[in-house]
Amino acid sequence: MSKMYVRKNGWENIKAETKKEIMDFCEGYKDYLNNGKTERLCCENTIKIARENGFKSLDQFETLKAGDKVYVENKGKGVMLAVIGTEPIANGINLVAAHMDAPRLDLKQNPLYEDTELALFKTHYYGGIKKYQWTAVPLEIHGVLINGKGEKVTVSIGADENDPVFCVTDLLPHLADNQMKKTGRELIDGENLNVLIGSICGDKEKDKVKGAVLDIIFDKYGIVEEDFISGEIEVVPAGKARDVGFDRSLIGAYAQDDRVCSYTALKGIMETEKPQKTAVCLLVDKEEIGSMGNTGMRSAFFQDTLAIMISMTCEYNDLLIRKALANSICLSADVGAAVDPNYKEVYEINNSPLLNYGVLITKYTGSRGKGGSNDASAELVGFVRNLFNQNDVNWQIGELGKVDAGGGGTVAQYVANLNVETIDCGVPVLSMHSPFEITSKLDVYMTYKAYKAFYNCERN
Ligand code: MN
Ligand code: MN
Repeated sequence: MSKMYVRKNGWENIKAETKKEIMDFCEGYKDYLNNGKTERLCCENTIKIARENGFKSLDQFETLKAGDKVYVENKGKGVMLAVIGTEPIANGINLVAAHMDAPRLDLKQNPLYEDTELALFKTHYYGGIKKYQWTAVPLEIHGVLINGKGEKVTVSIGADENDPVFCVTDLLPHLADNQMKKTGRELIDGENLNVLIGSICGDKEKDKVKGAVLDIIFDKYGIVEEDFISGEIEVVPAGKARDVGFDRSLIGAYAQDDRVCSYTALKGIMETEKPQKTAVCLLVDKEEIGSMGNTGMRSAFFQDTLAIMISMTCEYNDLLIRKALANSICLSADVGAAVDPNYKEVYEINNSPLLNYGVLITKYTGSRGKGGSNDASAELVGFVRNLFNQNDVNWQIGELGKVDAGGGGTVAQYVANLNVETIDCGVPVLSMHSPFEITSKLDVYMTYKAYKAFYNCERN
């Protein structure tokens, strides 16, 4: 008798204890989101959690042996965590790769100006945003500056409820006749994403409001105007992660793409002891702008760090890193686009992820005829599907919307180009790249279970 394949909603017939585990797990996830509003803060918090769970910086080791738990930070914006396996690293690693950066507004290097007696910051948006979503919402500011003495100054304002927040103003509907005729893409001009930061005038000769704001910034942080030039200051949505829905089944928060996979990948490796293959969790930066630069997935950081780890387990030669990559499997841990009931027309339901149906496996991404995609092999899809089935992980397969509806990519292609067997695998999201992205708690939990099963699996 042939058996039909039927997808299943994970909440159906769920055990009360599993439901409790799911809900409890997501409390930790919400804290992780709240404590890491930028890639730097997320990286810092990730390392803090790793250290609390017995991971040590690689430079504290002279050699590595099975069961050792190590991390290597990449310039404050990325981190690679590993639990050394019982087999040689050249036999391959089990890698989960996610990203910690998220769409946002970055301050320009000369940000501060005054117009009509209001003080504002000029910004340059980072990543793929719908610009209209960033107006008329409260915003926080986080980042670092290097001052004239070469010292690093940290800025963080807006997260505490006693802090002020900031915002980009928008035009009132009464005067928006021309604006509302524009296409969505043109609705808000990129140069109009200016952040309102003050309005009281001080005693300077000109630019009195700007001058007064500079005085406050100097008093609070010791920052002078020129210091902004060597700054990386990010403007992000204000507010904490929240439960969504009467049943509290969903989480609403900024930057779940891709901190949801960062957290689940981190939690999975925290619970990995002496696996057969070395387990590696790689959290990178710059995915949202093409994985460029020395903190992005295209950086040599990953390969070089893996080579260093190999050299600490045995006598090193260059073939060992090549063998390690060739024998490795990577779950490219990134979010996918869940079917939105308001916009069903862009999804093909049988091949699109549904909320609450579990961790999402995506064989290929790209656009048009799979352009620019890593297309995972049938062998790898089979391996992952069977692994998840054996470990009671709710999972589903899906792609990014309808054929020719648009497209996108992840770090998968850059890992795969290193000769690593790679497949996309992560959490379905609603309102992706908006200031308030939605995930299902069940999917978040199943993704953690999936990564944990993968780190710990035995394979040839
Ligand atoms: Mn992503
Ligand atoms: Mn993204």
